Parts: sequence; C-alpha cells; structure tokens
Amino acid sequence: MKIKRITVWQKTLPLSKPYWLSGGRLKFEALDSTILRIETDTGLSGWGEGCPWGHTYLPAFGGGIRAGLELLAPQLLGQQATAIDRLNQMMDVVLPGHPYIKSPIDIALWDLLGKHAELPVYTLLGGADGDHIDVNSSISTGTPDEMVSLIEEARAKGYRTHSAKLGGGHPQTDIDRIEAIEAALQPDEFVTYDINRAWTPAVAIEVMNSASARGWFEQPCETFDQCRHVRQHTTQPIMLDECMHSLQDHLDGWRYGACEGVKVKPNRLGGLTKSRQVRDFCTSVGWRMHIEDVGGTVLADTAAMHLALSTKAENRLASWLAHAHLIDDPAPDQGARNRDGKVVLPDKPGLDVEPDLDWLGEPVAVYGAV
Ligand code: MG
Repeated sequence: MKIKRITVWQKTLPLSKPYWLSGGRLKFEALDSTILRIETDTGLSGWGEGCPWGHTYLPAFGGGIRAGLELLAPQLLGQQATAIDRLNQMMDVVLPGHPYIKSPIDIALWDLLGKHAELPVYTLLGGADGDHIDVNSSISTGTPDEMVSLIEEARAKGYRTHSAKLGGGHPQTDIDRIEAIEAALQPDEFVTYDINRAWTPAVAIEVMNSASARGWFEQPCETFDQCRHVRQHTTQPIMLDECMHSLQDHLDGWRYGACEGVKVKPNRLGGLTKSRQVRDFCTSVGWRMHIEDVGGTVLADTAAMHLALSTKAENRLASWLAHAHLIDDPAPDQGARNRDGKVVLPDKPGLDVEPDLDWLGEPVAVYGAV
C-alpha cells in the first residue's frame, strides 16, 4: 500500500467564544487548522489534522505545519504507508524536531493502517480498556462565583471532571478561587487546576501550600526546572503539560521526580506513534494522564480518543474535546462526541471520520500526481 498523493487544506476555525488562559495572558478567537488526506495505490485513504491552540500557547503555529509539509510530503510519496515507524524515522531525518508538523501525517497513517487491517485504531494501539472515555470540562478563569457557576453548568451537562484555569493577578485571588471550587465540588467530582505556566515558583508554593485542595495542579510554572522546584516544596500531585515535548522530557520527569502525571497530546509530541511511546512509559512508571489533543476539529479529537481508550484505565484521567469550542464541524455526528460526559468510539476500521469535501473547499497544496 504505497502513498500516491497527499492533499492539504487550511481551515480557520472560529471559537464559539473567545478563549482566555492565565488571566488574559493568552487570548484568541479562532484556530488555524491543517487537515490532510493521504491517498494510496490501493484506493484507501487516511485523514489527519494538526491544529495548534492559537499561536501563543506552544512553540507551534498553523502556517508552520503547511511550510513543513512542503519539505516532508514529497519524501513520503511512493513509500509504504503501513511502515509507520520507518516513516516517522524518515521524517525525523528530513526535518529534526518540529513534532507538531508531523502529527497530522502520523495520524493519517494510523487511520490508513486501521482501514487496511479493518480494525479500529484503538485496537492497533493496544486494545480498548473499558467501553468509554470520561470527558472533562474546561472552566475559564473568572471570579470564584463565576467559576463555580461554570462548574454547575458543566455538571448539568454530565461532566464529573473539570479543568479549572488559574493564574494572573494576586495570589490570594487564586486561593479564593480554589477554596470556592473545592467547597462546591460534589463527592464524585474531580478537578485539575490548570495554571498554564502563569505562576512564578514562589507564587506556586504560596498558593498550593495555603489552599486546601485535593486535586491536581497542572503546569504551575514556565519551565521544567521551576515545576520540579515547586514539586519539592508542595504536597499536591503535579501534572506537566506545555514543557513536555519528547520522550526524553518524560524520562527526565521521572528521573527527577518532577510530577505524578502528564498531559499526552499528539500535536505537541508528534502524532500517535510518539504519544503511544510516551503513554507506555507513563503507564510503566505509574503516572496518570489526561490524553487529548492541543486543538482542532472532531478529527484531531478522535485520534487522541483512540489513544485514550487504549490506555490502561487506572492510568488515564478524563479527556477534553477541543471541537466542543468550535462553531464549524467537518464531520457532523462522526467520531468522538460527548454524550453526558462520556465518549463511546464506534467499532469501525481506522478513525472512522471522513471530513466533508464541500466543507473543506479548495486544497492549499496537492503533492503527487492529480
Ligand atoms: Mg494544560
């Protein structure tokens, strides 16, 4: 099954409401998504998506994906599509680093492999553990009362795990937010406080040691070493996210005791192949993971949910769905959808998401003979 053609689309995806992280430090109103299709000489084709969460969140931006594909796509033509590890190794030689550029290609290759094998991608990634994935809400930073009412709204929609965004302003403001949320939580609910790098180590230590919280604190500070310093001076479990880019970062996280869990995001790590490697390492050391993608439509979300479902249940926490924040939908009713706080994946080959060609419109690039 050889790669015959790669077609690339660019889509600007408006958010249903502007998104703020870290007290306004990171604000944006639309995402820049790259969707691609890999066609093969057997007639099978696979779909992938790469969509950074704005251009201020990680060292990644939408235009970077399309620029990188100009280098990578011609090298992939004529190659054996099922040789996913070989193709990842080749991409790393052609363009070292830049994992976010490779993610949509790698996702499309897994979709193809699933269709070729007539198996869902979660079966190829290790097999389903359980029959669903729990979905978590995303609670924007606000006053304590505003955040509690957002949690109540999420609860009414079936969510039992919440990702509450903190940071920005006086440390006491975050302490007040935490105290209000903890008081409002029901016994079967969980919360991860996501700081998105907004605290200095001193503020992190002050807030975490002052507020009574039983949940996780995610990426309190900018760098790995700062978070590790906070880990040594606090007691709550810490989850790392934005500072983790490679398997080596995770090896260091374990070696230096920097955290008890991580976010596993295909777009940040370079696709499902590298995310699976990280997932297997994290499982072996007993960490827990939120597995989800950085951003994108139901296509990127569904790829991440296949990885989540194939992860040992006791090591996985709830997953977030980026597409719930978007107005547009390339594949209505397909793929990973939130039903009362749960995602159930169809037992179909590949990812089972086929974007609508009319919605996609004209491609921005076609590699290979038309
Ligand atoms: Mg995060």
